[in-house]
Amino acid sequence: MREVQVSTITQAVKEMFMEANYVIGDDVMDKLAQARQKEPSPLGQMVLDQIMENNRIGAEDSLCVCQDTGMSVVYLTIGQDVHLTGGALEAAVNEGVRQAYTEGFLRKSIVAEPLFDRKNTGDNTPCVIHVRLVPGDKVHIMCIAKGFGSENMSQLKMLTPSDGVEGVKKFVLKVVEEAGPNPCPPLVVGVGIGGSFELSALMAKRATSLPLTRSHKDPRYKALEEELEQGINRLGIGPAGYGGQTTALKVHIVTAPTHIAGLPVAVNICCHVARHAERVL
Ligand code: SF4
Repeated sequence: MREVQVSTITQAVKEMFMEANYVIGDDVMDKLAQARQKEPSPLGQMVLDQIMENNRIGAEDSLCVCQDTGMSVVYLTIGQDVHLTGGALEAAVNEGVRQAYTEGFLRKSIVAEPLFDRKNTGDNTPCVIHVRLVPGDKVHIMCIAKGFGSENMSQLKMLTPSDGVEGVKKFVLKVVEEAGPNPCPPLVVGVGIGGSFELSALMAKRATSLPLTRSHKDPRYKALEEELEQGINRLGIGPAGYGGQTTALKVHIVTAPTHIAGLPVAVNICCHVARHAERVL
């Protein structure tokens, strides 16, 4: 049994949320540069240039790349041979978030109660935590800083098996078209297909944090990812919604077994900042 102090998780979470808010990944930067080469719209070209310059300034000066520094979402994949010591796991993760957002000068965006008071908690906690137990003795942490301009444009639909591939395509394109300029395109579109109502949403969120260089390993889903990306880019929304051919940088699909009577599909939209950081302890 390997012992892991929860204080090391606190430290990692703190560093990862600061990094995610200041430094945009090379995969996203490369995709933006490729899109800039292909984008025919002058306005679209200008927006893509500004996005890349903004990201470079954020990384060089340790400044957040967007004023909406997001709701903190943490995926923990914990090996069954790990013994967590020194305190409660959830408290340790939230402490990491609190330190990142206070010491890192990141906007605090969380309200304690969603409907009536909506009073800000003042430190961006609590975060959303998803825990999965797997064989092994490692702790894998994925931190996502999710802005709500794009989160608000996400949708979930319980399709039925007879809706099939065409139904999935129609729904994904409809979600992006309805979103228009609101989620700050170009987007990373996460699609969760299968599972249950809640699992499809979890998969869609996780899909937005996958490397943009990766595609689904099943060639049928890989082809569907490419077809959806092309379809989205034909919508003409363009960078920041000013028109153009760059509306999506990538469509990622994550799938799971589902019920014989169902075809859940969740679409989680992520904006161009696509902030996440990942670490193994
Ligand atoms: S959607 Fe993304 S880029 Fe737009 S305001 Fe929110 S976090 Fe910032």
